[in-house]
Amino acid sequence: MKQILMSACLLGKRVRYDGGDLPLNDRIVERWRAEGRIVSVCPEVQAGMSIPRKPAEIANGTGNEVLSGEAVVVEKEGDDVTAAFIAGARIALDLCQRFDIDIAVLAESSPSCGTTTIYDGHFAGGKIPGMGVTAALLKQHGVQVFSQHDVAAVNELILAARMG
Ligand code: SF4
Repeated sequence: MKQILMSACLLGKRVRYDGGDLPLNDRIVERWRAEGRIVSVCPEVQAGMSIPRKPAEIANGTGNEVLSGEAVVVEKEGDDVTAAFIAGARIALDLCQRFDIDIAVLAESSPSCGTTTIYDGHFAGGKIPGMGVTAALLKQHGVQVFSQHDVAAVNELILAARMG
């Protein structure tokens, strides 16, 4: 059975920086859950960051640039948390490789999990196109990354794979 990596906060786990979650309450996701299809990950918490924790954003770049050493992840007060974000991305990749996962549904705009947009590094709510650190590392290794807005499309992909 094809398994799916999902951001833990989308599954109702209170792991976000502010101690909250981002539950989807989607019947497709509930079915995936009942089928035992979902592998949950919070890259930041599993890398050792606390709940709650200070907000962090990628400064002057995107997840790909963090991975190539051209950008950093900083907390609002300026502390560099790049190493923890890269460690969290590696944990997510390790899960994909261990469970032979090639599809991930991740929380949009997060500096870890964003798949098409991320916050712009100014801590004022602005966003730029780009992926978070985890999404970028997964994509570099052949994992298809989607946001929570793409659940129906991901379901179609799984159904198509079953037919093939
Ligand atoms: Fe959710 Fe990802 Fe942030 Fe964890 S790192 S709280 S899974 S968006």
